[in-house]
Amino acid sequence: MNGALPGRADAVVIGSGGLGAATAFHLARAGLHVALLDKAGIASQSSPRAAGLSGTLRADDLMTRIAADAVRRIETFEADTGEPLVFHQPGSLKVARREEHAEQLLDEVARGRGLGLDVAMVPPDEARRLMPFLCTEGVRAVMHMRTDVYLEPRQIPEGYARAAARLGAAVLPHTPVQEIVTEGGAVAGVRTPRGVIWAATVIDAAGGWLRQVAALGGANVGVVPTRHQLMVTVPLAGVRPDQPITRVIDANVYVRPEKGGLMLGGYEPDPLQTDLAEMPAEFEIKDLPLDLEVLRGLARSVEAQFPVFRDVAVQEHRGGLPTMTADGEHVLGPAPGVPGLWIIGGCCVGGLTTAPTLGALLAEWIVDGQTSMDLSSMAPGRKAAALPEPDLAERCRLQYAHHYWSPASMPADDAN
Ligand SMILES: Cc1cc2nc3c(=O)[nH]c(=O)nc-3n(C[C@H](O)[C@H](O)[C@H](O)COP(=O)(O)OP(=O)(O)OC[C@H]3O[C@@H](n4cnc5c(N)ncnc54)[C@H](O)[C@@H]3O)c2cc1C
Repeated sequence: MNGALPGRADAVVIGSGGLGAATAFHLARAGLHVALLDKAGIASQSSPRAAGLSGTLRADDLMTRIAADAVRRIETFEADTGEPLVFHQPGSLKVARREEHAEQLLDEVARGRGLGLDVAMVPPDEARRLMPFLCTEGVRAVMHMRTDVYLEPRQIPEGYARAAARLGAAVLPHTPVQEIVTEGGAVAGVRTPRGVIWAATVIDAAGGWLRQVAALGGANVGVVPTRHQLMVTVPLAGVRPDQPITRVIDANVYVRPEKGGLMLGGYEPDPLQTDLAEMPAEFEIKDLPLDLEVLRGLARSVEAQFPVFRDVAVQEHRGGLPTMTADGEHVLGPAPGVPGLWIIGGCCVGGLTTAPTLGALLAEWIVDGQTSMDLSSMAPGRKAAALPEPDLAERCRLQYAHHYWSPASMPADDAN
């Protein structure tokens, strides 16, 4: 996956994380000549650092349908791409410790069942049987989403990139896009240090760098790269891979089995927001400063439910820069005012496991001129993606800090 730079392509995809690689694969499968470029190694930035959890029941019906469809594509990933994917399907538990979150779960179950999902409330004892590390004292209600999966994160972008290459895509690591070339206001190609690729369709899938790349084409996309971290404990007696992902709503913390230990990640109230325009050009996610104390604090916030994390040794600590949006929706569609430029990002810490479907939808839109789902709420030009900077940063912080809260229990929102 390191060939010659093609002089022309039908479509250039900028960024080989989950979203870019999935888009490139689906475009190549539709018969387009595709170039997939990355300024760093293929699949080397935020995507391989993800927790790899699906969360099928999302804040609205569109996102839920997308997440459910993505789980089906994860189940058939190996057959579709010819690439390996290690995944487990133990389902997930969502734990309410406050009355308003118990009500939230009842609403979510009703909504999920209405959408045909295999989801139900379970008694706390049953939740503990499924996840023996969960202590249920103080737990008011638990929801069980039976089809949720967790997977090996790097295999999604790596697999799609390799499969795209087999379909004829030029997959080019260490090839930064320095300029989006326009002619008469429309996209005409991209300039890299290795030369120009002429293409009338360019896709910005640059992850944390989404805004910088959009700006190269004259577009603005309001997303905020936000540090997100997780830790994995040393192996612990009693951990099994078939134990469900467990999320504690009020604390915005998730736990799952990993490498014989338990993974814990979560959403602190005051996350580190980063403007990559202020970072040196050679900055990579591996250079992002991490802070284990944030995770220790999150572990303390769920100590009554997961005392196992008290003073436990850690075998792995990782983090990256997913992008938050002001309304919690992804960003997908044509860049306003720049014909030929398309955007896919604003992952809101959920873009790895939804990439199989988001990439397919974007490819469908580019190839057929329309999509099978109405994606207008994800439009790059919507009001929530064009807020003044301080409002954008604050709305994105609130979305992050209340990640598992329903829109109804979020602070008042006039950003949509
Ligand atoms: C700790 C952690 C846990 C997470 N947990 C989950 C989870 O459980 N489930 C889930 O679905 N998601 C999760 N996420 C979010 C997930 O990682 C992101 O949604 C996903 O990685 C987004 O992929 P991406 O393709 O947008 O970004 P990236 O993987 O960052 O890819 C963007 C690529 O663009 C390239 N690029 C940038 N600028 C240029 C340029 N000018 N020219 C060429 N290339 C360029 C970069 O080098 C990079 O490789 C987690 C993230 C983190 C950090």
